[in-house]
Amino acid sequence: MKIVRFQYAGEVRYGVHEDDSVRLAEGTPFSGWKLVDERVAPGEVRLLAPCEPSKVVCIGLNYVDHAAELNMALPDEPLMFLKPPTAVCGPGDTIVYPAMTGNLHYEAELGIVIGGRAKDIPEDEALGCVLGYTCANDVTARDLQARDGQWTRCKSFDTFMPLGPCIETVFEPDNAAIRLTLNGEERQSSNISNFIFKVPRLVSFVSQVMTLLPGDVIITGTPPGIGPMERGDSVRVEIEGIGALENPVG
Ligand code: MG
Repeated sequence: MKIVRFQYAGEVRYGVHEDDSVRLAEGTPFSGWKLVDERVAPGEVRLLAPCEPSKVVCIGLNYVDHAAELNMALPDEPLMFLKPPTAVCGPGDTIVYPAMTGNLHYEAELGIVIGGRAKDIPEDEALGCVLGYTCANDVTARDLQARDGQWTRCKSFDTFMPLGPCIETVFEPDNAAIRLTLNGEERQSSNISNFIFKVPRLVSFVSQVMTLLPGDVIITGTPPGIGPMERGDSVRVEIEGIGALENPVG
């Protein structure tokens, strides 16, 4: 099931993308909802980020092929940082190039969307806390990352967390192609089977640090091939089985 959040007839609604239409729902998948018997054409809705996280928990180095590219040893445990909810934007929204940076990078990532409150979850129960999965772009001001020595500023500008286009609830989170194109040219290509830490480990690990709330998102690290974006570019993250998230840079 592909859950979408969108603007339609002046309201923000949830629904499900079915075949060639969007079926509307009452309520939200996080607080209780039901699908109603009303369908609209996809062109009649404006897709939004598929959830409204209270926080986005980001995982650093998590692909064996990216670690090899960087000549780095594999980490013993996940490295975490946060993005604020104000960084979130949706499909088609412009990633705003901040005046403070001269080196804006893309990072294609799988996003895990949490379905219910989760604290101290064991690994073998972790997938039960997950509503589904989405595409994410961990936009980063690479020069500020090096200059600051910690990552709050470089990861947190408004629009630095594109999410979408949907929350796919039927997805096996251990084998799916992930790809990023910039202006149609492939820049990143890997498979989530290359994760150093798998999804159950990540959800369990994060939940031992902070309570995860419905709609929170964990983004899971990026594969090799990170690089710069310029104003006027169009950046697209594609994950097999989920869809594509495309954003202009302006
Ligand atoms: Mg990242």
